[in-house]
Amino acid sequence: MTPQSSGRIVVVAAPSGSGKTSIAKEILRRHPSLRFSVSATTRPKRPAETHGRDYFFLERAEFEKRIAAGAFVEWETIYGNLYGTLRSEVDAALAQGMHLMFDVDVKGALSIKRAYPEACLIFIRPPSVEVLEQRLRARLTEDAETLRQRMARVPMELEQAALFDHVVVNDVLDTATDEVDAIVKYHLQ
Ligand code: 5GP
Repeated sequence: MTPQSSGRIVVVAAPSGSGKTSIAKEILRRHPSLRFSVSATTRPKRPAETHGRDYFFLERAEFEKRIAAGAFVEWETIYGNLYGTLRSEVDAALAQGMHLMFDVDVKGALSIKRAYPEACLIFIRPPSVEVLEQRLRARLTEDAETLRQRMARVPMELEQAALFDHVVVNDVLDTATDEVDAIVKYHLQ
């Protein structure tokens, strides 16, 4: 059962390349009372990332042990790696009255809503699938296989948008950020 708490939950989700992470970072900067919910993952750490700040980087065996122990609110396999929200992290923060922002995939967002029905779910949508693909191609980090994997998930992800509380189209980043900001301000009141 979800404990009684005064902390609020905001979740941003989007297809890869929608600008979700840029928006989430700016929203966190503008709202000091909002804390980033640190997920666990089996994906290798990138050079700029810190264990415990960006993710808890776990070996697959350790991650699977925690799944079996019921330690996750939700978890998903994304591009071959496991990602999950640790129940202990969320409940501790909410019990202390902290507001939490989640940057998770679309399915994970809907699972969080099932566990915490009062959560505010924001879907960041690209203006079109074509623009999304152009943006992914422009991020020179994506090789052909990664691009294919990411694009393959897009129809499934876009279909889920209707289940979110809010949909923000990210055509112009600053405008989309301001729209998300207004939603977050309202939800944290
Ligand atoms: P990346 O590897 O680029 O950091 O993240 C890949 C995808 O996994 C992103 O869409 C990110 O939002 C999502 N993700 C990160 N943490 C979690 C989590 O705890 N649960 C779920 N379901 N997705 C997550």
